[in-house]
Amino acid sequence: MIQQTLVLIKPDGVQRGLIGEIIKRLEQRGLKIVGMKMVHVDKSFAEKHYTEDIEKRHGKKVRDYLIDYVSHDPIIAMVIQGSSAIEVVRKIVGTTYPGESPIGTIRGDFAHVSKARAKEKNQGRNLVHASANEEDAKKELALWFSVDEIHDYKLSAEEHLI
Ligand code: ADP
Repeated sequence: MIQQTLVLIKPDGVQRGLIGEIIKRLEQRGLKIVGMKMVHVDKSFAEKHYTEDIEKRHGKKVRDYLIDYVSHDPIIAMVIQGSSAIEVVRKIVGTTYPGESPIGTIRGDFAHVSKARAKEKNQGRNLVHASANEEDAKKELALWFSVDEIHDYKLSAEEHLI
């Protein structure tokens, strides 16, 4: 099934000069970028992305940290399209805590902070956000992108990729 998913390069990814590296990893897998922009969101927008669900799962401190952090500096937002793109992109990104994330994933190759350290500092810097499932992807894409910011086009290499 062809899916679209939201990828954000969070402030640590932008600040560390990893925009190109992260985009490269999505492109080299044959995924298609159908929307992309640099945005500096405010806190009220960030609250809509990091909803109360985060508070239920990780607590208020973590949600407050995420809202502050993601609205502190510009980030890159992308719509990525491909076959089972939601799952494939999550594999490329890796698992939540970089110290546990496999080598070969973005989080496993460019960060190393453990779950224990993230909890100790209430600070989960892991470079990228990627929608977790179909329901989240639908909500997040509608929040971050208008219909006219998502482009329907064909890659010249598409017949070899999909
Ligand atoms: P993922 O981004 O891997 O889907 P979650 O949705 O569970 O993970 O969490 C959202 C974000 O919250 C994570 O990407 C990470 O930046 C941050 N986070 C998770 N746990 C903690 C923690 N204990 N302390 C600080 N930040 C955390």
